[in-house]
Amino acid sequence: MAIDGPAASGKSSVARELARQIGYDYVNSGAMYRAVTWHVLERGISPTDGAAIARLLETSRIDCDLDKDGSRILIDEVDPAEHLRDDRVNEEVSLVSSEPRVREILVAKMRAYANDRDVVMEGRDIGSVVFPETPYKFYIDASPDVRLRRRIAQDQRDQIAARDRADSSRRASPLIIAEDAHVIDSSNLTIEGVVGEIIGRLKMKGMKFN
Ligand code: C5P
Repeated sequence: MAIDGPAASGKSSVARELARQIGYDYVNSGAMYRAVTWHVLERGISPTDGAAIARLLETSRIDCDLDKDGSRILIDEVDPAEHLRDDRVNEEVSLVSSEPRVREILVAKMRAYANDRDVVMEGRDIGSVVFPETPYKFYIDASPDVRLRRRIAQDQRDQIAARDRADSSRRASPLIIAEDAHVIDSSNLTIEGVVGEIIGRLKMKGMKFN
């Protein structure tokens, strides 16, 4: 199941809760791009140096698995979970994510998650690129004002407008609304409200839950 949308649209909370309610595993693909960005910065590589980033990834060990809170990524056996929301990661993640080799490597990992289990995966290109065949695609949006307020409430310095611009205009797998995605504006909805709408839609499509 694919859930896409811009920064702070509420898609992570929705995807996690939806997965819990329907008994699927939750995978946060943004955390994977964030982990790679942290690794690039830790190694002192410029986020604009695509060739150096690609070289670094060829020699890095990237392990993905699931624990009770969702997906986890280890890079060279280090779990960068506590750094994924660092200011410098927020600032550079869109740039690092625009490197095609980064996307190739991480998309293969995302697909592997779904090999032998049902997943709710959220990101920017899950319905358009990672799982284009899934019949279950949702695009969660919210007005720019609401999204900004949500980030401030999380006490985060995150230039979401700049990230959205970069994510929507990059050449490799930009953020788009997949043609067959069901769009939900979450501006005036609670998490429960959005999850309820998704579950209603899934039932309408004849989906059977575990
Ligand atoms: O979802 P989150 O805001 O944590 O994602 C962080 C960044 O990772 C996005 O701004 C985007 O640049 C990148 N990303 C991506 N493709 C995805 C998920 C995230 O390019 N499927």
